[in-house]
Amino acid sequence: MKCPSCEKGNLKNGLTREYMFGVFLGEFLAEVCVRCAESFTDEATTKKIEQAARKKGVWGLGADTKITKTGNSLAVRIPKKLADYLNLKPKDSVYIHPEADKLVIDTRI
Ligand SMILES: [Zn+2]
Repeated sequence: MKCPSCEKGNLKNGLTREYMFGVFLGEFLAEVCVRCAESFTDEATTKKIEQAARKKGVWGLGADTKITKTGNSLAVRIPKKLADYLNLKPKDSVYIHPEADKLVIDTRI
């Protein structure tokens, strides 16, 4: 079968290492493209990956949020679930910086 992603490589059975938000979830059976290395999992495996993400507490941590104005600055609202996961509390210090077009909030200071 041809790879649905690059449409040139063939797929063969292999393993994919899955991560969510930088957290390693495990290795799972997948069909892997020999050309572009894109991996494809069946429905049952996709479910297993979701379960692994839930077990590690990272499932659903990504969220849309609003930027609000506070004085001359802007503030980013951090959803409770994400704050709890990172153990962030009011008045904690963090280091923020751009990374290409992303805003990184480094909590390890
Ligand atoms: Zn491919």
